[in-house]
Amino acid sequence: MHIFAIANQKGGVGKTTTAVNLAAALALSGHRVLLVDLDPQGNATMGVGIDKRTLSKSLYHLLLGLASVREVRQRAPTCAIDVLPTNRDLAGAEVELVDLPRRESRLKDALLAHAEAYDFALIDCPPSLSLLTLNGLCAAHGVIIPMQCEYYALEGLSDLVNTIKQVHRHFNRDLKIIGLLRVMFDPRSMLSNQVSLELETHFGDKVFKTVVPRNVRLAEAPSHGVPGVLFDRSAKGAQAYLAFGAELAERARQWMGAPGAQTEGRS
Ligand code: ATP
Ligand code: MG
Repeated sequence: MHIFAIANQKGGVGKTTTAVNLAAALALSGHRVLLVDLDPQGNATMGVGIDKRTLSKSLYHLLLGLASVREVRQRAPTCAIDVLPTNRDLAGAEVELVDLPRRESRLKDALLAHAEAYDFALIDCPPSLSLLTLNGLCAAHGVIIPMQCEYYALEGLSDLVNTIKQVHRHFNRDLKIIGLLRVMFDPRSMLSNQVSLELETHFGDKVFKTVVPRNVRLAEAPSHGVPGVLFDRSAKGAQAYLAFGAELAERARQWMGAPGAQTEGRS
């Protein structure tokens, strides 16, 4: 199983949209996918059609050792992905985790036992560099960083890169930056194009080839509880996330062996 954290401490940059649509895209291409909603906002949970208000067990219970993956996990009603859903309870976990042993590794420990069941686990991180995000980074093999190509995007990036380096040094030697994903891209904007070029110059092949355009259909999909790639598959945004799924699966095969290979051809 490849475990990827979708992280950026900036709010509203497209983490959840990326997590949900990448999960759905990978599932559409026959991969077994687990989506982990690590954000108390519960947007990824709602985005795949699970009602966060009616959860009997959530990621909160899993992280605190009060429930198992099996008890928390749900099948998304809209697509063939399993979800570890979340609601506001998780905000409390931040405080309660502090006194527990292996507080930064609880998600990793929980996922470890299910490594054989999935090709990909995608972790939707909250917009902070908190203990929750730390759990995401400790559990992951790699980080996918969605970014808007605007002036302030680069400013926060160094904080995130430093955090990833620290986690790599102290907790998780597997962790690396898989790539930067340009999202909500406006090809007509000079600034977008400039920042995009700058990213390519600084980060080279760590910048994914796929660029996700700003697309209203992607923004409409969550209110229907359906991933954008299923809501309107022909829309430009959906097409971009389908392409991103293919690009990531290919990179995963090249970089880390080929766990998805045995499931190829499934649908
Ligand atoms: P948070 O930090 O609050 O968790 P986030 O980083 O997860 O936010 P999203 O919730 O994915 O960001 O996106 C923020 C808003 O932008 C949402 O309303 C979403 O629908 C919209 N959005 C995301 N990507 C696109 C896109 N490519 N085109 C148009 N709208 C988008
Ligand atoms: Mg989010």
